[in-house]
Amino acid sequence: MKTYSLLPFIFILLFVHNIFGQEVEQVSDTATTNFPDSAYVMSKLYAFSADSMQGRSTKQKAISKSRKFLIDELVDIGVAAYVPDYLQAFEIPQKKGDTLTGKNILAYVEGFSSEQIIVISAHYDHVGMKDSLNIFNGADDNASGTIALLEMVKYFTANQPEHSMIFAFFDAEEMGLLGAKYFVNSSVVDSSLLKLNVNMDMVARGDKNELYAVGTYFYPQIKTYIEQAAKDKSIKMIYGADKPTDKPNWTYASDHGAFHKQSVPFVYFGVDDHKDYHKITDTAEKVNPDFYLEAIELIRDAVLIFDANLDVITANSRKK
Ligand SMILES: [Zn+2]
Repeated sequence: MKTYSLLPFIFILLFVHNIFGQEVEQVSDTATTNFPDSAYVMSKLYAFSADSMQGRSTKQKAISKSRKFLIDELVDIGVAAYVPDYLQAFEIPQKKGDTLTGKNILAYVEGFSSEQIIVISAHYDHVGMKDSLNIFNGADDNASGTIALLEMVKYFTANQPEHSMIFAFFDAEEMGLLGAKYFVNSSVVDSSLLKLNVNMDMVARGDKNELYAVGTYFYPQIKTYIEQAAKDKSIKMIYGADKPTDKPNWTYASDHGAFHKQSVPFVYFGVDDHKDYHKITDTAEKVNPDFYLEAIELIRDAVLIFDANLDVITANSRKK
């Protein structure tokens, strides 16, 4: 049983002017929270990318273990389910008329002043196993984003945000963003309330101490907020991989692409591809804990600033 500080959380709002001449609400917290909880994060990262999880393929039965793991954590945290039992099932047609069932896992924290929704997401599926010697553990891709998302759930359950938040653990990303596409087109959420997607996919490998933020080409105001969140961090932020001429271009590389297709503002956080990407060597031992923990803190800090400035993010039209 985990316990959390229930001390009242005090927001101090400062108004400064950013480069667009707009008022920017900056947020600083005075709560004495242990964030991120390094022991929790690292133990869960190892557990979620262990051989026993068998690589978390949507096509293989063992993925049920990953789903149980996540739901047990959410129940333990005490966060509300956005759909019954946290599960949003969807059918994936297969050859020969067979169907496969994908399952998104959706938790919810109501905002204290708005029912507009920020979706914070990470895909929990990966590419499975060939045999007992060839298990694709997917520690970086994407146990890292999944466990970071659990840590965000813990934080925002204890510290209520201004806007409502859905914490989406998406399935079948590796099959073509299928879980995220199903979610954004489903009737479980009023699409007019979807105001921002913050997606995490591969956030633990600190090989270069660099983290990409993708999407600021379309929503430049978001860049200012990320710069604020990153200014007291050692991680070097890289903005890009989203212009039509960029190579690589990651605009549709992970679940945020499904939101972008629906014109929902997004930002995607992830590291560059590395030599263990989609290989059996993407294991937890390769993760740099200092980088991973700082990345989680940076993204949480960015989300706090997005939450305080959501009206500015949604007021500006996107580039094509
Ligand atoms: Zn991924």
